[in-house]
Amino acid sequence: MEEQLKEKLFKNDKTGWEGMDIEEKDVIYRFSQGYMDFLNRAKTEREFIARAKEHADSKGFRDIATVEKLNPGDKVYYVNRDKSMYLAVIGEESLEKGINIVGAHVDSPRLDLKPNPLYEDGGFAYLKTHYYGGIKKYQWTTIPLSIHGVIVKTNGERVFINIGEAENDPIFTITDLLPHLAQEQMQKKLKDGINGEDLNLLAGSIPYGDGDKKIPESVKLNILSILNTKYGITEQDLTSAELELVPAFKARTLGFDGSMVAAYGQDDKVCAYTSFAAMMELEKVRKTAVCILSDKEEIGSMGNTGMESHVFDYFISELLNKSGINKPNLLEKLFCYSKMLSADVDAGFDPIYASVSDKPNAGFLGKGMSLNKYTGARGKSGASDANAEFVGYIRHIMESNDIKYQVVELGKVDIGGGGTIAYILANKGADVIDCGVPLLSMHSPYEVTSKYDIYSAYRTYKAFWEAM
Ligand code: MN
Ligand code: MN
Repeated sequence: MEEQLKEKLFKNDKTGWEGMDIEEKDVIYRFSQGYMDFLNRAKTEREFIARAKEHADSKGFRDIATVEKLNPGDKVYYVNRDKSMYLAVIGEESLEKGINIVGAHVDSPRLDLKPNPLYEDGGFAYLKTHYYGGIKKYQWTTIPLSIHGVIVKTNGERVFINIGEAENDPIFTITDLLPHLAQEQMQKKLKDGINGEDLNLLAGSIPYGDGDKKIPESVKLNILSILNTKYGITEQDLTSAELELVPAFKARTLGFDGSMVAAYGQDDKVCAYTSFAAMMELEKVRKTAVCILSDKEEIGSMGNTGMESHVFDYFISELLNKSGINKPNLLEKLFCYSKMLSADVDAGFDPIYASVSDKPNAGFLGKGMSLNKYTGARGKSGASDANAEFVGYIRHIMESNDIKYQVVELGKVDIGGGGTIAYILANKGADVIDCGVPLLSMHSPYEVTSKYDIYSAYRTYKAFWEAM
């Protein structure tokens, strides 16, 4: 009797794996393999956008600049400076009645090279770095790192760099002190253990020339000579470059049961990939479906490729223009009638660090999508707090499509906090809720997700766009 009542009244707390049949597991594992393959070819925002554009082209999406008139069913995109991208599938209903947006970000925490990175010390060549996003600095030493990015010459020529991913490529690393001599370092607070200014990449050790005469900075000279031969660049060319250091390891299946994925950059490429993959499968939709792949979220969404920029408004205005319905204030009206899933990762409950989570309100790996009604810190400061009506609407979509979800918070009250791009679209008037995949080791070089949640994300974003 009590058991039956419990079944009826308590919320379902099972993981998605329980009672799963072999076919479903197979679908989930295959989808996750596609995700891992994509991650290995898209470690930076530029690489993600380049792959996404290729894929969208092959699926019949067109650059909006090349389209004269938009009709229901048309598929278009706008690529913003090769670092962010917006895609749309035009719906049956007028844009005036609002659109359904899923917004993720494709930048991830990493180390960037400084404008003047190269120097020599003690017979080694080094590259100086400046970290990007919220990292624990000690995690980025003594791991293999690869260099990705672009160098732009004064004539506009772009040299694309990707060293450290291929099996025969060299990799790079940042050294750390041996424990034998680290007594002083080990007394420091964890956050001070490694100085930001000491995150210098080991990049070479052979002096230039035959060694006959001693030239100063001959190891640095040798590196520049190699770079000049290979890429036709000089030291000054490194000042107009975006070179990013990311972990050189591959995305891998984790665990004896193969249930999880370990990979760099899953914040937020797990939501970016799953929403993008869902968009590629859309055909007829009632409301226009829009997918945002944003840049610069990890440093506050500023700048012309970040979500705070007006480039997104420009894209939506172009949808209105080319649908032949634009008029004053229509853009504002459209946003007020729109709905959005802010597709970003959530902190997964980690039993080893259980003390930071309020267990009944924590997101668990394998229990499906994490919905965060609000984020922020302390007294919800800075939060975009979704309206209960909208949470109810999203719950309805999840439940009618049999998708598992958990409505949770990032951590215990007053223990920290965080934010996403949710507030930016909410400020424009849209209904927004954070809806993503729970993650372990967030912002580390090797983040962990559950394959069950990865596939749930894909299903959620697709169901949201296809809702009638
Ligand atoms: Mn994120
Ligand atoms: Mn993040």
